[in-house]
Amino acid sequence: MLDTQVVVVGAGPVGLLLAGELRLGGADVVVLERLEEPTTESRASTLHARTMEILDSRGLWDGADSPASDSRGHFAGIPVDLTLPGSRPGLWKVPQFDTERLLARWAAGLGADVRRGQEVRAVTDTGAYVEAGTDDHVVRAAWLVACDGEDSTVRRLLGADFPGHDARRELLRADVAGIEVPDRRFERLPDGLAVAARRADGVTRVMVHEHGAPVPARTGPPAYDEIARAWKRVTGEDVGDGTPLWVNAFDDTTRQLTHYQHGRVLFAGDAAHRQPPIGGQALNLGLHDAFNLGWKLAAEVTGRAHPGLLGTYHAERHPVGARTLSTIEAQALLLFGGPGVEPVRALLTELVGHETVRAHLAAAIGGLDVHYDGVGARLPHSTELLRAGRGLLLGPTAIPSGGIPCAPAEHWTLVRPDGHVVWADPSDPPPQEVLARWFGPPTT
Ligand SMILES: Cc1cc2nc3c(=O)[nH]c(=O)nc-3n(C[C@H](O)[C@H](O)[C@H](O)COP(=O)(O)OP(=O)(O)OC[C@H]3O[C@@H](n4cnc5c(N)ncnc54)[C@H](O)[C@@H]3O)c2cc1C
Repeated sequence: MLDTQVVVVGAGPVGLLLAGELRLGGADVVVLERLEEPTTESRASTLHARTMEILDSRGLWDGADSPASDSRGHFAGIPVDLTLPGSRPGLWKVPQFDTERLLARWAAGLGADVRRGQEVRAVTDTGAYVEAGTDDHVVRAAWLVACDGEDSTVRRLLGADFPGHDARRELLRADVAGIEVPDRRFERLPDGLAVAARRADGVTRVMVHEHGAPVPARTGPPAYDEIARAWKRVTGEDVGDGTPLWVNAFDDTTRQLTHYQHGRVLFAGDAAHRQPPIGGQALNLGLHDAFNLGWKLAAEVTGRAHPGLLGTYHAERHPVGARTLSTIEAQALLLFGGPGVEPVRALLTELVGHETVRAHLAAAIGGLDVHYDGVGARLPHSTELLRAGRGLLLGPTAIPSGGIPCAPAEHWTLVRPDGHVVWADPSDPPPQEVLARWFGPPTT
């Protein structure tokens, strides 16, 4: 009766990571993507520490050049050293289209069926199965996951509750050739914020926010002339003669779905939460959603899941999303706020000088501080052992473990496929109920 076990709407980075994770967990998956070809648009350029660990744990960088890293991060433009224990601390510069290419190759290699040029226009959840309809065909599946981005069609079709606020402030951006302006790293000026970074190829990315400027209703990117005029008003410099290679505007609209699950439909990535890309959190947050959901949904559709397992996706990821959105809003206030926020910035700059505050912010930026209710922290050095995307039992002696790989270690440690520890004890292996809760009933 079913065409596939899971249909994923959207082959952006989140949909592709999810598709690969579902395949690792043994689920059949069809991905429907409206674009004929992957986008080459310049979008997110930063992968944070936890995202790099995740990609490492599945061997995604094998054979590829490791990207450049930098330990100099920032919170609302206030410098924060991101050095922390772990295998991949810091910022990793990877253009989003490279991340997508890596994920697409990996997911396809695992057998994900990615169908391009297929725009989903209808979704029907019968309670027993769910159908996704495009102009060409209907795909019937046990579950649908909406990874269709910030303007999610699936979210609209379902009328899902998506509270938050609309735009209050806007940042204009452009990559420009042929201009000579001094480099500016989050320079706060009397009339606004200016950023300029010249690349090795001579192209300069400029970003500008003007205090008090209204946010226009846009249907496309701004004209370069509009950006050049705002730049002039804020910095006094004329960049009008430059050649724009890319122009973009983003605002601080912030919304989050009340529920990440609606019947047989789940949401991940920008479809579940909309946020400005401040601090480079947006893409990373979405990838972590997919990494949390994939193995759980695969266990569900292959009949291995404990009845409560899939529900832990919303329970675990919604609070993380809410906290990240709140942190992004704090950064937006401190970055775009007028002179009135200066005392708070001065205090925060002073606080960052204290090691505990620095480490706290560095962990939050890197996604390394995530703790789910009743679940332990991530295993930071687990790359090889988690490659198969299975649970993992580390212990001093071999015991039958119901198909979970058991590797020798000093302590008994049970690890979920997403690297989080759910049992750690120096002398006792995890009891049956703990194994069953995360990995289902034992098989003979
Ligand atoms: C111009 C721009 C600049 C950005 N800059 C930054 C940045 O500097 N830093 C940062 O962290 N983040 C940035 N972001 C955000 C970042 O790109 C997103 O957070 C990230 O792409 C989210 O991934 P996703 O897979 O959830 O959604 P998306 O990447 O949006 O992918 C959704 C996919 O679903 C497809 N789709 C949509 N509707 C349908 C449908 N009905 N049927 C089938 N397919 C459909 C789309 O074509 C797309 O391929 C930027 C985004 C944009 C648009």
